[in-house]
Amino acid sequence: MTAPAIVILGAGALATARRIQALYADSQVHGLQGRVEADVPYRELGAHLRELYARGTPIVALCATGIVIRCVAPSLSNKGVEPPVLAVAEDGSAVVPLLGGLAGVNVMAREIAAMLAVPAAITTSGELRFGTCVLNPPDGYTLADIGQGKRFVSDLLAGESTRVEGEAPWLDGAQLPRSASARLAIRVTPRVWDGREDELVIHPRSVVAAVTGAGAGAGAGAGAGAGAGAGAGAGAGAGAGAGAGAGAGAQIVARVRDALDAHGLAPLSLAALLASSEHMTDPALAEAAANLNVPLRFAPTRPEDGEPPANLLHAALRIPYETLHNDATAGVALALAPLAVDPDTIGRARGRLTVIGLGPGSADLMVPAARTALNLATDILGYDTYVKMAGPLRADQRVHGTDNREELQRARHAFELASEGRAVVMVSSGDPGVFAMASAVLEVLEASQNTDWAAVELEILPGVSAAMATAARAGAPLGHDFCMLSLSDNLKPWAIIEKRLMHAAEADLVMAFYNPISRARPWQLDKALDIVREYRGAQTQVVLGRDIGRPGSTLRTITLGELRSSDVDMRTMVIVGSSTTRRFGNGDEGGEWVYTPRWYE
Ligand code: SAH
Repeated sequence: MTAPAIVILGAGALATARRIQALYADSQVHGLQGRVEADVPYRELGAHLRELYARGTPIVALCATGIVIRCVAPSLSNKGVEPPVLAVAEDGSAVVPLLGGLAGVNVMAREIAAMLAVPAAITTSGELRFGTCVLNPPDGYTLADIGQGKRFVSDLLAGESTRVEGEAPWLDGAQLPRSASARLAIRVTPRVWDGREDELVIHPRSVVAAVTGAGAGAGAGAGAGAGAGAGAGAGAGAGAGAGAGAGAGAQIVARVRDALDAHGLAPLSLAALLASSEHMTDPALAEAAANLNVPLRFAPTRPEDGEPPANLLHAALRIPYETLHNDATAGVALALAPLAVDPDTIGRARGRLTVIGLGPGSADLMVPAARTALNLATDILGYDTYVKMAGPLRADQRVHGTDNREELQRARHAFELASEGRAVVMVSSGDPGVFAMASAVLEVLEASQNTDWAAVELEILPGVSAAMATAARAGAPLGHDFCMLSLSDNLKPWAIIEKRLMHAAEADLVMAFYNPISRARPWQLDKALDIVREYRGAQTQVVLGRDIGRPGSTLRTITLGELRSSDVDMRTMVIVGSSTTRRFGNGDEGGEWVYTPRWYE
């Protein structure tokens, strides 16, 4: 389970919050900024709770139930996620599970209440009576039909007893009224529910479907193999395979469903879709797995594993199973295991490398897709400061932080991890493509002959770059044509920088200077300003943003005439306006707006 966020509004709740935190590894206390020092600061309770809720993070809020309900209410119509949400009294005297009945909220309520030595306010009838939520089977098991489940529990509550057919170890400790001759039955089976109302059918995810001839749909024939191979061999799998993949995903789904049907197996019993490692980049497979709503796993095709497609099952499964189906023409084989199978143990996943930008610093300026990538990551790489900014991370996430500035080496390391099937996230600040890691990642990929690296699912997500973040704080200095320049001559000759500065200044572009100065590069900024001053007047507007989006940020608006290199350090963004950039007083607040009009004379 994801670690809960323990949310407090003031210092009065901190002691109870810390006691609850001790129950859950990796959990953190979120505190209202300015009111209480906690692990994670937040600005506004409602927005924060809704963000946590949308991410599926369990919430333990130490405040009135009414406050929690009002805050999350706008999110409740979203049926996609319903994480556990609990309200706990500040002083630990009451524990109220509110939402997430099917996600284990009552289990959490009991755990917290037991630690606080108070009763949990459980209101779920079935659970009160039977000591467990019959409708909330553990990971790897799924209810065939929730409506059927509710009827079944009402019948039990009305006094009926039940049989248990199949393996349901999690029910062993429950106080269910059991009887071998009962009319009602809880049936744990991979087979399709036949519609009988007196049965509660729970499907174990115990079936693995292996497919060959991926993408081409027609089966394991030569044509199909060649088609998919071409996509993989080209390295840029997505581009090469996309055309051929149209409709192919749907065909794979149809083939798998036909095979399941032939054996009376429920689609909800499927634990994973398995394919040959050779087809790792085939988009049709990814589409099929997404449609079947199961993870996609891969295994090598080795002669010693026998005939396709059952050979894939042999290569991938480390548990006893029965081969139910092996149809080489349709290219589908099915394995049935006696219990639910953990998909993470089947073959391996396609590795992923996601290059993200954190934005300038504060969590609310990170794009949600980057946050999602971080949540899904098994491995996180980057410069130490940025990895810290990316937190909070879970204990099961491996961090490969480094102070070392060897960016190409770090990029290679990322591909090595990803090509082992891991979900790797590489972090940069701002935007990853602006003077940051995305180029290094592409550079090592282009230079590599490694086909495993080429098979990695590479994605680059944009971020809010320092120039944008600084500009927004100042107003709109980048409102007309502008350029971004790094003043660092570590990776390019100084002569090129001078030439670009000259042309940009002459062209009257607004300029955003990254890496303006450092201890190792003390004189370059002054030299750059000399060049700019040849073309721009002393009254030219300049914006200095330091640590924007981070604690202790400062923003100054001055003129080119006033600017001294001692005003600037390596954590500063320097925006030099064009001839039309202007500023005006910002009313009572005593600040100023700087902007560049969109018109030009
Ligand atoms: N990829 C980053 C830039 C990395 S270069 C981005 O898109 O923002 C590093 C330079 O960016 C620093 O020297 C500084 O000039 C600027 N910078 C990065 N973060 C900043 C921040 N929070 N405030 C001001 N400038 C910042």
